[in-house]
Amino acid sequence: MNNHVTVLEIDGNALKHNLNYFKQKLNPETKILAVVKAFGYGSDGVQVAQFLQNKVDYFAVAYAHEGIALREANVKTPILVLHPQIQNLQAIVDYKLEPNLYNFKIFDAFLELADRSILLNYPVHLKFNTGLNRLGFWHNDIPKILATVKANSHVKIQSLFSHLAASEDLEEQEFTNNQLNNFAYIAKQFYKHLDNKPILHTLNTSGVVNYSKSQFDMVRIGIGLYGFGNDEKETSCLKNTHNLKSIISQIHLIKPGETVGYNRAFVAKSNTKSATIPIGHADGLSRKLGNEKGFVLIKNQKAKIIGNVCMDMIMVDVTNIDCKEGDEVIIFNSQKMIQNNAKISETIVYETLTAISQRVKKKLKK
Ligand SMILES: *Cc1c(COP(=O)(O)O)cnc(C)c1O
Repeated sequence: MNNHVTVLEIDGNALKHNLNYFKQKLNPETKILAVVKAFGYGSDGVQVAQFLQNKVDYFAVAYAHEGIALREANVKTPILVLHPQIQNLQAIVDYKLEPNLYNFKIFDAFLELADRSILLNYPVHLKFNTGLNRLGFWHNDIPKILATVKANSHVKIQSLFSHLAASEDLEEQEFTNNQLNNFAYIAKQFYKHLDNKPILHTLNTSGVVNYSKSQFDMVRIGIGLYGFGNDEKETSCLKNTHNLKSIISQIHLIKPGETVGYNRAFVAKSNTKSATIPIGHADGLSRKLGNEKGFVLIKNQKAKIIGNVCMDMIMVDVTNIDCKEGDEVIIFNSQKMIQNNAKISETIVYETLTAISQRVKKKLKK
């Protein structure tokens, strides 16, 4: 039982709003896969999946154990495991998860398991590399794949997919269109030779924003569900889902010349009131936010982080804020605050969200 007073509230209404926002950009028959990997982008993958399970067609996780957690929480929706490992294939079958098979090593291993377990039409997903050069078969692997699966009733190719390298970057349109054309060509080869028609999908969030003409049969939405598009205009149409809150543990009155925190990094120039908050770098707040770079909100006013961010705590300047021990502290509750933290931390919003650690209590509000 996690009783931490530092809580990430996941806004269920915002999740729903964001999902509907993307739905209205798509053809009504296009399926939606919600990406809930990395604990639902730093929130709680299980709670998010339980909340969305009747509203989406598929979930995706990166690793098998993330999918197992969803099944153990009774999530029944199909779950694609994007990056399975050979040693987890048996668990994947045991938990009715659906593997991405991205090279012959894992493809052969899965076929061998499917044969041995006498599986029937077990859904598998084939990923093709069209330019990201991360995971995936090459198009010239197609004849060998087809020759193998056509004679095999143990597995069924449930979907074919690829992943774009720069869907958010309009300067890379030519490269991206080339990826999309390659993918369409690959899909055609399979459609020509297979009895079933695998689901085709290749767009992530920014792909949906910039290349919705290539939505194929399904899209994979991650960051957009959690409130971020690829530019200010898109983001302003979305709602923030991650609200990180805490409370003031203690207040100190500090005299000029006295210091606050490790390495005595903050030196008071005048009488200063500081508040200690139970959240630190072990909870996912970057140390780069220390030394007056980052701030929190107390009573709707900005309180700068003073001195170094500790592992479990920060101290903030509340000299001009009328507040007391036990009062609420907002670490962030808007896309703007999250973007600001990401910028100061010299990273992207994805990392600022996924950094929120397991020690923070997570609560989805419907
Ligand atoms: C993480 C991931 C996504 C989601 O991307 P967003 O930019 O968060 O929408 C989609 N597809 C694959 C293969 C991924 O790894």
